[in-house]
Amino acid sequence: MSIAIDTDLFRRLLAGVNEQGQSADGWTRAPWTDELRAAERLVIEAATGMDWEYDAAGNLWITDAAAPADGLVVTGSHLDTVPKGGAFDGTLGVVGGLVAVLALRAAGVRGAERLAVISFADEEGSRFNTPCFGSRTMVGTFGDEVADMRDKDGISIREAGPKDPTAAAGLHRRIGAYYEIHVEQGLALDPADVTLGIATRLSARGRWEWTVQGEANHAGTTPMAGRRDALVRAAEFVLAVQRTALAHPGAVGTVGRLAPWPGGTNVIPGRVTGTLDVRALDNQTRDAVIRSLVEGFPDIEIEHKSTDDAAIFDPGLIADLHASAAERGVSSMDLPSYAGHDAGTLALAGVPSVMVFTRSPNGISHNPAEHSDEDVCLAAVEVLAAAMARRLA
Ligand SMILES: [Zn+2]
Repeated sequence: MSIAIDTDLFRRLLAGVNEQGQSADGWTRAPWTDELRAAERLVIEAATGMDWEYDAAGNLWITDAAAPADGLVVTGSHLDTVPKGGAFDGTLGVVGGLVAVLALRAAGVRGAERLAVISFADEEGSRFNTPCFGSRTMVGTFGDEVADMRDKDGISIREAGPKDPTAAAGLHRRIGAYYEIHVEQGLALDPADVTLGIATRLSARGRWEWTVQGEANHAGTTPMAGRRDALVRAAEFVLAVQRTALAHPGAVGTVGRLAPWPGGTNVIPGRVTGTLDVRALDNQTRDAVIRSLVEGFPDIEIEHKSTDDAAIFDPGLIADLHASAAERGVSSMDLPSYAGHDAGTLALAGVPSVMVFTRSPNGISHNPAEHSDEDVCLAAVEVLAAAMARRLA
């Protein structure tokens, strides 16, 4: 059976989606905004002959009119971006996934009615600090209270987007297999001269928020000796995060946001709040990093926001992808990932899942410089289509 990929559609749709939320310094499509809706609309319009609907959590499902209740063979990703993000993260998986599904439908493969595409809601979590909102709501990790999470302007998810997202809980049971194409994040494939990375697992990870209490006082009249400068203590904590992660092989730790209060030039910071992101290949190492920080800084309140255990991808789907790549002369290698993805949420909930990473020449992501060459992206689409066809057979 020959599967013809519509390269022109791929090119047009990728460009069209990336006209939404584009500015001089990157792409910004926050969840439940006009920019994101416009991008989703383009994908819906491109899905010729297929039905679409938003579930209660705001995930966009593109399915066949005769789709069965379960056993769906699904691909997808997300169309939301981080602020000033790149043109590939998420977008490539939705656009490439749809093009693969349309190619299989056009080829008349048996069981094509089981094929579906999902564009997950709020994957980045950059607006409400709710990473993988759509998939986590679907699998039941997030309860009702998640809808009351607020963005920096005080707007809640319930106000901006879905009113009753947990009504989507359990929908992952419709999915028999899930594939996600994604731009490589990191620099493993290019140095190895390999086109595709087949993800074996996603790292364990977690997010915390922490608060240092000090005492705000006059920057001129308070002697250095008596100060309780919260930002100085926060700086010690930031350095400890770096030290602790370095001391645990395979671990990474990042403080991405710091907010000193009250924030006056001539006021000693009386309080600092910050974020903390820790990841490791396994759960035990991640937990050890946090334990070490909590023990080292008893004066700092470290509040747990979210954790995801390491997600192990399906060996059968991994083997299918390698075999489909080899058949086409496309080089592939196993690759663990340190980023969070909806595929990981689904895998943790028992849905056989896998990811395909496309070689990035610079290893940069969450940045406008993020890139994969078109021939690499199209190779991924072709390999994905062939692997999905194996699953339908
Ligand atoms: Zn992504």
